[in-house]
Amino acid sequence: MRKNKNKLSLGTYCGKHKVAIFFYVLISLIASLTLAATTILMAEAIENIVEKNYYIAINYVICVLLIDLFRWSCWYITSFMYHKVSGQIISQMYYDLSKQSFRLTSKVYSDNESGLFMKRMIDAPKAIVETFAEFVQITTDLISSTIVILYVISINIFVGLILVGIIIICVVLDRIRVKVYEKNNKKTFETEQKITSLTTEIIESEKDIKSLGLEQTLSEVAKDNYEKNRSAVYKESTTETHFWRARNLTHDIGCALMLVISILLLDKSLMTVAAFMVVYSHKGNIYELISCITEISSMVSSIKLNSQRVFSLFDEELFEVEKFGDVHLDVIDGEIEFKNVAFTYRDYELTKDKKLKKEIKELRTQTEVFKDLSFKVPKNKMAAFVGKSGSGKSTILNLMSKIYNADNGEILIDNTNIQDFDKETLRNSFTLVNQFPYIFDMTIRENLQIVKPEATEKELNEVLRQASLEEFVSGLEMGLDTKVGEKGIKLSGGQKQRLAIARALLRSAPIILFDESTSSLDNIAQAEVKKNISALKGRKTTIVVAHRLSTIKDADIIFFLHEGVIVDQGTFEELFERNKQFKEMFLAENI
Ligand code: ADP
Repeated sequence: MRKNKNKLSLGTYCGKHKVAIFFYVLISLIASLTLAATTILMAEAIENIVEKNYYIAINYVICVLLIDLFRWSCWYITSFMYHKVSGQIISQMYYDLSKQSFRLTSKVYSDNESGLFMKRMIDAPKAIVETFAEFVQITTDLISSTIVILYVISINIFVGLILVGIIIICVVLDRIRVKVYEKNNKKTFETEQKITSLTTEIIESEKDIKSLGLEQTLSEVAKDNYEKNRSAVYKESTTETHFWRARNLTHDIGCALMLVISILLLDKSLMTVAAFMVVYSHKGNIYELISCITEISSMVSSIKLNSQRVFSLFDEELFEVEKFGDVHLDVIDGEIEFKNVAFTYRDYELTKDKKLKKEIKELRTQTEVFKDLSFKVPKNKMAAFVGKSGSGKSTILNLMSKIYNADNGEILIDNTNIQDFDKETLRNSFTLVNQFPYIFDMTIRENLQIVKPEATEKELNEVLRQASLEEFVSGLEMGLDTKVGEKGIKLSGGQKQRLAIARALLRSAPIILFDESTSSLDNIAQAEVKKNISALKGRKTTIVVAHRLSTIKDADIIFFLHEGVIVDQGTFEELFERNKQFKEMFLAENI
C-alpha cells in the first residue's frame, strides 16, 4: 500500500490557533442558542397577549430584545475573530505552499499544467477556511434548531413526528443530491483547471501567438474548453435544481400538513396558542435545518477534498521534491565530470486511480536521451557542447544543475557526486544562464542585486561592462534605476540575455553554464559577449551550449554530440581539421 507522506494537514494549521478556534466555536454556539431562546420567549409573549397579561408580555419582548442585542454582539466578535484567524491561517498556508513550490523539481512543473498549481495554491486554501467558518455556523444553527424541535415534540408528539418525518425525507433527498453534486463538481473543477492553464499560457505567449497567427486556433481551443466547462456547469446546476424542487415540495406539503393538524389540535384545545406560534414560526426554520444537516456533509467533503488538493502538494510520491545530501564545501574548484550517465525524460500525468481512490502518476511518454555519457571538464576551463538540435546539449546542463536527475551513472563536481552536496554548496557552485532568462519586474539595479544585495555600484558597473550592457544602461535616463517591466518586457531579447549574463557574473559562482545564451544577440553584441565569456577562461569553469560554432572558437574543449553520444572532442581547430560533419556545420553557418 502507498504510504501517505503528508507532513502537513489542516490540523497543523488549526492547532496553532486552537484557543481562538475554541472561543470562536463557543461564542457561535451561544449566539445560536439565543435564537432558540427568542423563538420560545416570543411564543410565551404571544400566549400572554392572548391571555391579556400585557405587562408580562412586554417583559418577554424586552427579554427578546436584550437577547437579540447580545446575539448581535456575539456575531460581531465572531466575525472579527474569523477575519483575524482565517487571514493568519491562509497566509501561513500560502507561505508554506510557496516554500514547497521551490522544493519541487522542475520536472514536476513540466509534467503538470500551471492551472493545477494555481487552483491548489490559491483557490483551495481559501475555500478550506471559508467552508470551515460556514461549517461552524451551520453546526451551531443545527444545535439551536434541534432544541426548538425538542420543544415542539414536547408540546405535541404528532406535530413533532411530522416535523421529524419531513426532515428525514428531505435529508435523504439531499444526501443523494450531494453525492451527485460531488461527481458533477469534479468535472467542473477539471474543466476550470483547463481554462486557467490555457489562460495563463495565452497571456504568457501572447507575442508568439500573434506572430505565429495562432489567434484563431487558440480561440477554438479556448471555445472548446469553455464549452466543456459550460456543459459541466449546466449539468451540475440543472441536477441541483431538480433535487431542490423535490425537496421544497416535500417541505411545503409536510409543513401544510403540520399546520392543519396544529389548527385541529388548537380547535380541540389540545394545543396552546403559544405552542402553535412556535410551530408556525419554526415552519420556516425547518428549511434551514434540513439545509444544515445536508450542508454539513457536503461541507465536510469539500474541506476534505480541498485539503487533499492542497496537502497532496506536500506528498513527495506525487510531487517529487529536490533532494540534497550533507556534503558542504566552502570552496568549490569547479571541475566537472559525467561518468556513464544515462537519462530518459519521463512525462507523467496525475490521474485518479479508481481502486485506490487516490491520485497517482501515470507515465505518458518517455524520451531516452543518454545511455552512457562520460566526459570531464577540468576547473577553470571553457567547454562547449555542439551538435544538431535534439542531440541532448541542453539536457546536459539540466542534469549538471540537478534540474533533472540522472537515472544511472554519476555527475561529479570536484570529485563529489552532486547528489551528495547540500543545497547551499550545490546552488553556490554554478549559475545557469538559459535561453530565455527570467527578468524580474524591477529596476536593472534590483535585478542584479537580487543575487547579491551587498553589491556596490562599482561591482554592478563591472558586470554590466563584462556583459556589454554598460553603454546601454548609462544611456538610459534613469540608468541603473530604470524599471524593466514584467519579464523584462521593456528590454530587447539581446538586452535581456546580457542582463542575465551580468546577473550570473555577479553571483561569482565557480561554474557558469550558458545555454544558447547569446542566441538573441546581434553579431556585434555576440562577438562582444563571446569575448567576455572567453575572458572567464582561467577564472571560472564555463560550459557553453551554442548553435553558432563561431561563438565557441576559443573553447578549451568542444564535445561534438550526435543523438546523445559524444562522437568527437577536441579544440575548434582539431575538430575543424578532422571532423567532416563539424566542418560542414561551421561552413553552413558562415555562408
Ligand atoms: P538540444 O539542446 O541538443 O537541442 P535537448 O537536450 O533539448 O536537445 O533535447 C534532447 C531530447 O530530449 C530531444 O529529443 C527533446 O525532444 C527531448 N526533451 C527535451 N526536453 C524535454 C522534456 N522536458 N520532456 C521530454 N523530452 C524532452
